[in-house]
Amino acid sequence: MKVPQQRNLFSSKTPFLGSLNKATFIPQSSPIIRPARTLYSETDDRTLLHILEGCKLPPNFRTANSVHGKIIKHGFMKVGEFGVAKKIFLTSSARDVVTWNSTIGGCVKNGYFLEAIGLFKEMLNASIEPDGFTFASAITACSRLGALNHGQWVHEMMIQKKIQLNYILCSALIDMYSRCGRIEIAKSIFGTAVRNDVSIWNAMINSLAIHGLASDAISVFSNMQIEKISPDPLTFIGILTACSHCGFVDHGRYYFNIMQKNFSIQPQLEHHGAMVDLFGRAGLLEEAYALIQEMPMEPDVVAWRALLSACKTYKNHELGEIAVGKIKNLGSGDYVLLSNMYCSLNKWDNAETVRYVMNKKGVRKCRGRSWVELHGSIHYFKSGDRSHPETDAIYRVLEVLIHRSRMEGYVCARDSVFMDISEEEKEENLNYHSEKLALAYGILKSSPGTEILISKNLRTCSDCHSWMKIVSKLLNRTITVRDRMRFHSFEKGSCTCGDYW
Ligand code: ZN
Ligand code: ZN
Repeated sequence: MKVPQQRNLFSSKTPFLGSLNKATFIPQSSPIIRPARTLYSETDDRTLLHILEGCKLPPNFRTANSVHGKIIKHGFMKVGEFGVAKKIFLTSSARDVVTWNSTIGGCVKNGYFLEAIGLFKEMLNASIEPDGFTFASAITACSRLGALNHGQWVHEMMIQKKIQLNYILCSALIDMYSRCGRIEIAKSIFGTAVRNDVSIWNAMINSLAIHGLASDAISVFSNMQIEKISPDPLTFIGILTACSHCGFVDHGRYYFNIMQKNFSIQPQLEHHGAMVDLFGRAGLLEEAYALIQEMPMEPDVVAWRALLSACKTYKNHELGEIAVGKIKNLGSGDYVLLSNMYCSLNKWDNAETVRYVMNKKGVRKCRGRSWVELHGSIHYFKSGDRSHPETDAIYRVLEVLIHRSRMEGYVCARDSVFMDISEEEKEENLNYHSEKLALAYGILKSSPGTEILISKNLRTCSDCHSWMKIVSKLLNRTITVRDRMRFHSFEKGSCTCGDYW
């Protein structure tokens, strides 16, 4: 198949890549890495732990390494066990690139992204030459953390070491740059890659989706047809998500319909869920509910949750209560949504009941956590956090910012607080949301005018959203927040999501 080279698939110009040399993105046909092997898929987790305990003493280092790799790979590891496993691994004398890869890859798979980067650095210190597997894991860890500087550092190392890009590394880089807020670099890598595998296209479409660039995602999908790459189920999840984030209801309907008709792909649970989300966000609650009822499979919690979220936004408590009734094992997020829905309708008694039930059942509210990468380190903040060594300075910056933003017309959105406390306390609570603390620290530690990138584990609240808009105007700088759902880039008083999120 003839693959067009250097073709710009987007309307915008290919960006300058900074210190990254574009000429080094050499397409190559034989992949240097293969999908992870599944040698240990049937192993019992408890047996592994037992073996690991038995391997604490020499000379079983080699066994310890391999067992440790299995444990990390299989996703049952607790923090304490991770510590033990890591210690055994690091004191072992028989470490080679395979065991390092297994350990780093296991960390990534289990969500230990910081640990993965730490181990990657230790691997380099131990003078073990990383290969394609190692780089794929390291890039993925940086991607999940939104750690742009680390990601660029790893990428530059790949260029120095002349690591050739196969489709896995290419997809990982597209994903990393986009999740670190650099969608233009992601586009550039995509534009120069050999796009002969669907995963590269999926990475690009999903990246555009989380940046709310539905038109670009649709244009990539069209180019896929021109280059004769068949879409797979993941492609359609990306396209439907993109349409959902932008309110492209008709486009979403169209792609949902052609999945089966033109590409013989049966819409799965995830595709139905994406459509419920699309209708719900657009305020088409009845249509969202009808789709759930017509689903050929049992609707999952994701679909009901999407409906509940829409019911909160559009203040429809009847449908919201139906959705709640369908969610088995309500999580803290569901209680908060339900309570906020009642609050927005001034149904305080109902909101109070929700809170009472939540407390009685011992469901703890999931605490917001945001982080910011500055000068090579990642700084985490919980809501109301006072544990950072520079807490006093952070809170001083925050107070000044809040004061100045009030003068610009910012009014605290007290109704977005799920708590039975006084109005004053509610405001306190909102003022110290984790992304606000992360932003204050970013401002404290970076030069004026530079962009600040914040990542958050939950969806950002409407109060932080409107505050960030005002602060971006006040300080004349771009603030990018990657929340659980998507990117928000605040600039000159507005957000790229157009307040549709
Ligand atoms: Zn907030
Ligand atoms: Zn936004």
